[in-house]
Amino acid sequence: MHGFAYQNGSLHCEGIDLQSLAEEHGTPLYVYSAGTIRDHFTRLDQAMTGVDHEVAYAVKANSNLSVLRLLAGLDAGFDIVSGGELFRVIEAGGNPAKCTFAGVGKTRDEIEYALKQGIYSFNVESEEELRYLNTVAAELDLVAPAAVRVNPNVDAKTHKYISTGKSENKFGVDFEAIEDLYARAAAELPHVKLRGLQMHIGSQLTSIQPFVEAVEKVTPLVLTLKAKHGIEFWSIGGGIGIVYHDSLAAGSIDWWDAKSEQDRPLTLTQYGATLVPRLKDLGLKILLEPGRAIVGNAGVLLTRCLYEKQGTAKTFKIVDAGMNDLIRPALYEGHHEIVPLKEPAGERKLVDVVGPICESGDFFCQNRELPDFQPGDTIALMSSGAYGFVMASNYNTRPLPAEILVDGTTAQVVRKRQTLEDIIAAER
Ligand SMILES: *Cc1c(COP(=O)(O)O)cnc(C)c1O
Repeated sequence: MHGFAYQNGSLHCEGIDLQSLAEEHGTPLYVYSAGTIRDHFTRLDQAMTGVDHEVAYAVKANSNLSVLRLLAGLDAGFDIVSGGELFRVIEAGGNPAKCTFAGVGKTRDEIEYALKQGIYSFNVESEEELRYLNTVAAELDLVAPAAVRVNPNVDAKTHKYISTGKSENKFGVDFEAIEDLYARAAAELPHVKLRGLQMHIGSQLTSIQPFVEAVEKVTPLVLTLKAKHGIEFWSIGGGIGIVYHDSLAAGSIDWWDAKSEQDRPLTLTQYGATLVPRLKDLGLKILLEPGRAIVGNAGVLLTRCLYEKQGTAKTFKIVDAGMNDLIRPALYEGHHEIVPLKEPAGERKLVDVVGPICESGDFFCQNRELPDFQPGDTIALMSSGAYGFVMASNYNTRPLPAEILVDGTTAQVVRKRQTLEDIIAAER
């Protein structure tokens, strides 16, 4: 569910008319709903009641300082993948002692910075990295808290670019190799304290089944590590999927209620209800690392239609946002529902919605039947709160869009639109 819906014929975010935001701040424009972010976080946190747990928001999904501040205010933990993300979390008032640091390629600078800040755990992805962590910690005369990422070799059944839990992916250490690795580390690496075990099987999972499979497969391993090495936490990763295709309708509880049990996509409540019984008696702290599930449906990208171009084979609606602003369709065939801000009356048309960038991959949809919006009209690309702005670039020397955070009836600019001067400043 989320805070975007038509009110009096005009698409709103909570109590704010999106058309008025587009007019005041221009387009392309990212708009986030604070209420939705809070609701998703709280829902997941409550769904895990009965288990000692922590929800560590995956910062890479949306790292705007105001979004992080909002989550820090809810006492969230944070899963980071770079020194830069740790810097943002600290700037936003997040607690480093609740940060876990993931990623296959941490540099010396990043390790030193995170060690000095006292993060909760380095989630390590290879024996080589674990040994290097030991070396850096020894030089600083510190002990690095660590967990190894196990690759459970289960099929997350998601897009190949966002599947991470199979043996052929670059992530983690093979399931079969973990026990020996912990034994070697305990014997040979005095500046590493093995504190937990981590896994993350992929992103945008819309069924509970791969999560269950992974949890059941890894449970005996995690209990062995607890008995032998005294580990205290198990991070079961992120990856909870969201609704992209019926994004607007799925903002309302009615859409969910009308679906049968089998047809209903995974909810945060179902995730908790299914996993809590399997996790509650392990005597371990359970960490969750959701990104998309917290912010994905809490954001839209507003863009204005510039032209309608009648090609010989197709009709193109050309808009002022491009793949540099939202790359998901080009990068992994991501689907975003397209919704005019003015509630459509009826006429629909088969179109491609494309951006101004000089790339054939610069499209938001192809051959999709859409309400027949016109040049001058503004549309919303739904479900753009995760992996949207954070992946934006200056390709074609286009300034990064502004970001707005709506909370009830207030709307705040949480990132100014970049200027052309900003773009070239470092080249002068
Ligand atoms: C990206 C990532 C996440 C978050 O994934 P979502 O699909 O956005 O929930 C969690 N953990 C790790 C290690 C990641 O790399």
